[in-house]
Amino acid sequence: MSDRFYITTPIYYANDVPHIGHTGTTIFADIIARYQRSLGKDVFFLTGTDEHGEKVAKAAESAGKNPQEFVDELALKWQEYWKKLNISNDQFMRTTLPGHEKVAQELLVLLQAKGDIYKGVYKGIYCWGCEEFKSEKDLVDGKCPEHRPDQVEYREEDNYFFKLSKYIPRVKDLIESGELSVEPENKKAEMLARIEGGVNDLSASRQNVTWGVPIPWDTSHTTYVWIEALMNYYSATKIWNKEGFWPADVHFLGKGNNWFHSVIWPALLLALDLPLPKRVFVHGYYNVEGRKMGKSLGNVISPGELMDRYGVDGTRYLLAASMPYADDSDVSMKWFDEKFNSDLANGLGNLVSRVAKFVNGGSPSKERVALINTYYDNFKLNEVISESQKLVKFVNDYFSSEAPWKLEGDARKVVIDAAVEKIIEIANLLEPVMPESSSEIRKILSGEVPSKNLFMRIV
Ligand SMILES: [Zn+2]
Repeated sequence: MSDRFYITTPIYYANDVPHIGHTGTTIFADIIARYQRSLGKDVFFLTGTDEHGEKVAKAAESAGKNPQEFVDELALKWQEYWKKLNISNDQFMRTTLPGHEKVAQELLVLLQAKGDIYKGVYKGIYCWGCEEFKSEKDLVDGKCPEHRPDQVEYREEDNYFFKLSKYIPRVKDLIESGELSVEPENKKAEMLARIEGGVNDLSASRQNVTWGVPIPWDTSHTTYVWIEALMNYYSATKIWNKEGFWPADVHFLGKGNNWFHSVIWPALLLALDLPLPKRVFVHGYYNVEGRKMGKSLGNVISPGELMDRYGVDGTRYLLAASMPYADDSDVSMKWFDEKFNSDLANGLGNLVSRVAKFVNGGSPSKERVALINTYYDNFKLNEVISESQKLVKFVNDYFSSEAPWKLEGDARKVVIDAAVEKIIEIANLLEPVMPESSSEIRKILSGEVPSKNLFMRIV
């Protein structure tokens, strides 16, 4: 087993601030990064911002700023957000870093030299919300399912194309055999079905977009933003001297980006003769009260709102507990309140303060529950949470039935020590999810700090 672990989130478009989808992805990846560090691995955890392309340029224009100034401000905001949420990323990628642009251009030259890039004319429908050419079957009533109708338009322009179709049979074999593990199973099936439907070559440049990485041999074109963005996972290993970390152990992403990460990115890497990532983990989306979250529906839940209400660890816990794994998940402020109260305020928090009253120091158990580790290994964070809640209930019941307040001497000590040991075990298991609270629990139970209510009940 390798002692290195390289995990990435997508780089997020620097045209707005994070919503709970971005926040969820970043928290999930952070939890896995912390878990892998706890196993003693040398972890490289990368997140960042995708700063080029038409969508960013348009957002800058409507904000009355030049694009560089605009992305500089937003990149700072994203970093502040992640810092608040205690995200432990080792580096923060910005695609306007000169180091990234240099590596992207070198890779493009390699693709060109290999004969995998050619010039042609693109005619078709483009959604600049997705920054992607669309085929009829991608659209619903002529509209992109993810974006406004005015973001979809017909285009005809000279493009450089990447010979994606040439690599499709190999990508298909690798996904089918699991050598490239696309997870969970339903997301793998979606990719194989889309490949089955036929794949065209990929437009790799834009003629009328100036905010991007110039095509090295023809600077009247900029590189298609997605191609250059995907290359960030590799360029990061060059920029920060992490060469030994390639290939990535896992790319974490939401389902809207599956095709790019599971098909296009592996095809580019095959063309470049570079090793492929081992796993691509694709989660679903958060719906709010049964509907897709959207500004027009007025049902947007912001990460800031969650942090104000539940604190940093509470937010991390609740997003992990509602993690959209194979399917989308449905959340609401009411559900978050109830879950917080039952699991944390009445559950873990109450248990700690209850037991702490009897404590004269406890010995932390180093033992880990193998089942929970399997859940971490398979990115099943909601199972981690529900398993830990079973432990909370178990210890609570044990404490009530043994009633140490009625006991004396050794009999009393045995019950309390057992309860303390179990709670510390729970804190250790939840450490990747709630790093601050776990450390606080250990301090309370060792008598290092006075007992207090870790999670105030939401009323
Ligand atoms: Zn779109």
